[in-house]
Formats: sequence, structure tokens, C-alpha cells
Amino acid sequence: DLSRRVQATGRDELAMLASTFNQMLDSIETAYRLQQRFVADASHELRAPLTAILGNLDLLRRRPGLPPEEQARALEEARSEAERLSRLVADLLSLARADAGVPLVIKPFDVDAVVLEAFQEARRLARGQELVLDPLEPVHVPGDRDRIKQLLLILLDNAIKYTPAGGRITLGLRGAGDGGAILTVADTGVGIPPADLPHVFERFYRADPARSRDPGGTGLGLPIARWIVEQHQGHITIDSAPGRGTTVTVRLPG
Ligand code: ADP
Repeated sequence: DLSRRVQATGRDELAMLASTFNQMLDSIETAYRLQQRFVADASHELRAPLTAILGNLDLLRRRPGLPPEEQARALEEARSEAERLSRLVADLLSLARADAGVPLVIKPFDVDAVVLEAFQEARRLARGQELVLDPLEPVHVPGDRDRIKQLLLILLDNAIKYTPAGGRITLGLRGAGDGGAILTVADTGVGIPPADLPHVFERFYRADPARSRDPGGTGLGLPIARWIVEQHQGHITIDSAPGRGTTVTVRLPG
């Protein structure tokens, strides 16, 4: 029972101790409630693809005489839901590691090389969008190379998901005055409504309910991105205008 509080009044040491103790209980309770909600949300998110996979497999088993195109559709749906499940599990593992405080491997690395790698991978994921890489300059900062690449892929993946074919996605890197790095991922996509913008870093938050049905997203990309940036003592900001596009800027200290 976490709701117990120590009663002590006055200004003596015991009262101070009681108040400190009660504050500690409050923060444990808050963390506990957040964790409970996270587990509930995660279970809910895991259940949807599982239900779809089981439903389609049952259909295939019960109706052996299904027309081939129906069979193919059921199989494809099961496969794509299994893929979603695997993305969800990977994202949940990233956040579990974040919550457990697993430290990053921070050492100087060549940001421009990582930017180029991420760009090349993203180009393979693009679906009719034009991907542009701004001219790169050599930039070195201390950081976890793999995590920074994960961060860039999250941002590029979002830009691709939320930019219709024919749009443009621009990836940029420049050195900051203080020896740090400034990374930008800009798209000409659907944008984020102002009312949603303050929430996009919350776990499982997705701006448009209609879009939440798109099988691509988990609502965990930006929370992971923010955690990576925070671990680098950096900053991440999002500028967005519905119908015009979104620009994400990441500053990493030198
Ligand atoms: P998701 O897996 O849904 O993309 P994220 O945590 O990465 O989850 O993003 C949260 C929400 O923020 C998305 O569902 C989307 O509504 C919005 N969003 C993120 N990036 C963009 C972008 N580049 N353009 C428009 N909306 C975006």
C-alpha cells in the first residue's frame, strides 16, 4: 500500500524527515502510476495486431476452399500485422532500456558519416517522395553513434509516413558555433495540428485518429527520439504547420 503517509507536525527534525518521506512516496506513486499506464497501453497496442493475425489464420484454417485471392489477402494481412508486432516489440524494448537507465556509449563520432548512412537507408523506404541531402560538412561530437542513427531513422521514417508521394524531405547537418551539431529533417507533408503538437512526445500519442489506423506507426518513435536526445544533453524541437509540413531540429552539444 503506497498511500500511507507519515504524520508529524511542527518544525523539528522528525517533521522534516516525515515531509521528505511523504515527498518520496509521492514520486514513487507517480512513477508507479505512469508505469502501470504504460503496461496497460502497451498490452492494448500488442493485442490489436495479434487479434488480426489470429483472425486471419483461423479464417484460412476453417475455410480451405477460400478463393486464392482471398487466401492471399488473409496471408498478407497476417504478415503485415506480424511486422507491426515486431516493430512494436522493438520500440518497447528501446523504451524499457531507457526506463532501466541502461547507459549509452558516448564517444566522439563522425556525425556526417551517420547522416549519410541514414539518408541512404531512408531512400530505400521512400514511397514517391523526393529525398534531398543538404551538402554535408565534417562534424564530430561526442555521442552514441548507433543511437543517433536510430534517431535519424525515426525522424526520416516519420517524414516518409506523413508526406504524400511527390513531396520533399530534406536532411541537413551543420556545425553549431559551440562545436556542437545541428541536425534537421524537414518535410512538405501533412503537418501536425497545433493542438496535437504539445503531445507528440508522449508514449503512444498519435495526432490524427484516422492516421492511427495506418499500420506503420506505433506512437513510440518520438518518445524514443526524445530519450536519445536527452541522453546526449541535447535539444529536440518540432515546427509544424498543417498542410505545409514539419521540421524537426536536433541540437547536440560539442
Ligand atoms: P508514429 O509511430 O505514430 O509515427 P511518433 O511518436 O513517431 O509515432 O509520432 C507521434 C505522432 O506525431 C504521429 O502519430 C503523427 O501524428 C505525428 N508526427 C510525427 N512526425 C510527423 C511528421 N513528420 N509529419 C506529420 N506528423 C508527424
